[in-house]
Amino acid sequence: MVVGIIGAGPAGIACASILARYQKDVLLFEGRAPGGLLNNARWVENFPGLQPMSGEELVDQLKISLRHPHITLIFEKVVQIQKHRIQTTTGQIYKVDRIVLATGTQPKIMEDWPPNPRVVYEWRDVPKDIHILGILGAGDAAFDSGLSGLDRKYKVYLWNRSDRMKAIPILYRSFIQAGGVYFEEEPIQKIHPFDNGLSIQTGNRSMNVDVLLVSIGREKKPIVEMDLADPATREIGDYAHPHIRQASIAIGDGMRVGLEIILGQE
Ligand SMILES: Cc1cc2nc3c(=O)[nH]c(=O)nc-3n(C[C@H](O)[C@H](O)[C@H](O)COP(=O)(O)OP(=O)(O)OC[C@H]3O[C@@H](n4cnc5c(N)ncnc54)[C@H](O)[C@@H]3O)c2cc1C
Repeated sequence: MVVGIIGAGPAGIACASILARYQKDVLLFEGRAPGGLLNNARWVENFPGLQPMSGEELVDQLKISLRHPHITLIFEKVVQIQKHRIQTTTGQIYKVDRIVLATGTQPKIMEDWPPNPRVVYEWRDVPKDIHILGILGAGDAAFDSGLSGLDRKYKVYLWNRSDRMKAIPILYRSFIQAGGVYFEEEPIQKIHPFDNGLSIQTGNRSMNVDVLLVSIGREKKPIVEMDLADPATREIGDYAHPHIRQASIAIGDGMRVGLEIILGQE
């Protein structure tokens, strides 16, 4: 049996590893970097059984599971799936017996601000050689990225559009203690290019930043053309439950579905 898994984030890696353990062949497709969103996480301290560590260190641990003769990691972006067929951007078609979708979530994009070198939507897209980082957002990911920026000695301004704090208190407190500047109930009204950066205008002030990171949430968006009617296609991780996004849950989910595939086959 060959299982095609699309996405090598925590969910896809977990699913691949349990299938391989039971001698099933896995083709694991990854369009960007194994580890998925965990590569953006500054500090993961809620992973049961493990000492707190950076997201990148946790990814290194997870990648160990991929060193298995039954797992083939294919660095290609999948563009289409049909029953038993997976097609990638190279035009190559791979035949599999089962398909698992582990493609995670996509950042919510502001209609008027498409991604470009000055406006990015994920921490890993923030260039290293900047000095001032602006962040729009007030959730865990926004503050986590703010702390990553402060680690890199950037000046960091964070705008919250409302007076509602969505991040857990420890992240907010650490951000302020580390010197982050927080503006509450201050929506960004306009941005426009200025020198090599951006000028940001709110109702209260106008400020310049090198890059704006927009972190206003994530959503499930099919990024693969597919036959939705195929009941054999399984969904795991953040893609399956975009409102509860946690690495350990994604891993458990990948394990569960992998085992269900194994049991269903026997
Ligand atoms: C800043 C930040 C901090 C976080 N901190 C924590 C934390 O402290 N603790 C915690 O538990 N969780 C944390 N998370 C959440 C955690 O990273 C996610 O819940 C987890 O990574 C979800 O795993 P996943 O495998 O479902 O999806 P993802 O990690 O999103 O992985 C999906 C993978 O699929 C790939 N992919 C997508 N489409 C295609 C395609 N068409 N072809 C090929 N590959 C494709 C992507 O490139 C990606 O690698 C954090 C997230 C962020 C953004």
